[in-house]
Amino acid sequence: MYTFLTADIYFSGCLTQRIGELWLYNISKMSVYQRFISNFAAETLNKYFSPVTDTKYIFVTGGVASSLGKGIIAASIGKLLQARGYNITIQKFDPYINIDPGTLNPYEHGECYVTDDGQETDLDLGHYERFTGIKTTRYNNFTTGRIYQSVIEKERRGDYLGKTIQVIPHITDEIKRDMLYLGKKGGYDFVITEIGGTVGDIESQPFLEAIRQLKWELGRRAVCVHLTYVPYLAAAGELKTKPTQHSVKELLSIGIQPDILVLRTEHPLGLNLRRKIANFCNVSQDAVVQSLDMPTIYEVPLRMQEQGLDATILRKLDMEVGETPGLGPWRSFLDRRHKATTEVHVALVGKYDLQDAYKSILESLSQAGTYNDRKVKCHFVNSEKITTENVKELLDSYDGIIVCPGFGQRGTEGKILAAQFGRENNVPTFGICLGMQMMVAEFARNVLGYSDANSVELDPKTTHNVIDIMEDQKDITNMGGTMRLGGYECGLREGSKVASIYGTSTIRERHRHRYEFNNDYKEAYEAAGMLCVGTNPDTDLVEIVEVPSHRWYIGTQFHPEYSSTVLKPHPLFLDFVKACMKA
Ligand code: GLN
Repeated sequence: MYTFLTADIYFSGCLTQRIGELWLYNISKMSVYQRFISNFAAETLNKYFSPVTDTKYIFVTGGVASSLGKGIIAASIGKLLQARGYNITIQKFDPYINIDPGTLNPYEHGECYVTDDGQETDLDLGHYERFTGIKTTRYNNFTTGRIYQSVIEKERRGDYLGKTIQVIPHITDEIKRDMLYLGKKGGYDFVITEIGGTVGDIESQPFLEAIRQLKWELGRRAVCVHLTYVPYLAAAGELKTKPTQHSVKELLSIGIQPDILVLRTEHPLGLNLRRKIANFCNVSQDAVVQSLDMPTIYEVPLRMQEQGLDATILRKLDMEVGETPGLGPWRSFLDRRHKATTEVHVALVGKYDLQDAYKSILESLSQAGTYNDRKVKCHFVNSEKITTENVKELLDSYDGIIVCPGFGQRGTEGKILAAQFGRENNVPTFGICLGMQMMVAEFARNVLGYSDANSVELDPKTTHNVIDIMEDQKDITNMGGTMRLGGYECGLREGSKVASIYGTSTIRERHRHRYEFNNDYKEAYEAAGMLCVGTNPDTDLVEIVEVPSHRWYIGTQFHPEYSSTVLKPHPLFLDFVKACMKA
């Protein structure tokens, strides 16, 4: 009956137009039945008049609650399609108004991840890179703020020729343009787009409207994967599907029929439950996939593959499914990980008592643990609480110390004490960005004898400004996106420990800082045993310091944690964990 009706719609211009009108102007008033017909009409039309490029688009939305792991699902889909030989990229659209997360407090939004081309982005991009090994760029993360900024700039230029600028169509057109950008530019087979937030949020509505339009325009070249939550009510002993039904209803009211549902759950979903959800939410049964809590996020791609998530996506996109790839190296990584039970304990000295604030560092350490056949356990030590009296008690039991990155004065004296403890007690110590700067300040105070040495960021009046503001940062008043950001080259000194760790003489690493090692003090440091073994070849900026007489005492101005991936762990983290094992 539906086929007959579709033919009717397809051949009757008048009816198609009528449905188009309903679709555009009266969506909220349409019944599910009407919406179903119009979806069907759109698919049929697009099948016969498909647009020119061949890139397929996968939209990942979330419902019921935030923090369900949309980023991990998007990254897993990317991984699985990549394993089938496809060229993929993953992007994220965040509904908040900040231009980028660079100015956001980590308590608000977790770590700020930096791309090689110098964009400050959402931490989910870190998952995308860790899972796929494919580098992201400034075009892989957009926010409402950035989209409005671009529209407003165009308006000021007069590009809209006297039009009234509105959310629909101007903002939604801009979103669509950005969503399609990588597909049009990069020759990708798949562009996976994750939408931040939860369906029903006011902020995400323009993004969902853009997806609705794109699904209509792209037809069989687009699918929507919706991630929801199925709670378990202990008192009733039951898993509840109602929140999922409501969330899908919410999507339908916007005009989006999800093609695939991924259900986060703490208990396995039986066949009956899947059937019920498929039935209530108009999706086929094979398109209902469960995502159980896993001991590690790196299990997720395997669990998704077992349930045929990638195959279902391909089928929905009218593509050939072919053989299921073996994911050999990924499986070996997981096998090794499960076997690694001997623990290594690392103290993470920082001021944010929040896992997400140091996400990439935690992941880099855990990957490095696996490759050393160890399980790295990280212990957060609040640097604000460290004093001369308690530093030994707080840090004594750990195999290694990471002095974390950061901004502002709070907790920095504790970081200096941690650096001193690590140096004096021969404990492997790794300082990253502000952590490196605090190692440098500590060395100046306790070895060079400059008792007030500091970074001018933390003490503008210090008479020993061993860390100073970079020349080109001095006149900057705008805080957003103006730091030294992204990938820069660094030459490694021959014979240094870092040169042997990297096994090369030039590296490229990502940055996010305004302050730098003050080269006026370089000679004093070198003479006293802290060597500047990594420098920028163009500017001489000190990128790495090391104390060769120590077991492992290295500080980097850059952030190695941004480029450690599952299949390509970072050499510095690998070597640091190895050093911690010899405790
Ligand atoms: N606050 C320091 C600087 O701007 C370090 C930054 C960081 O740790 N990312 O130089």
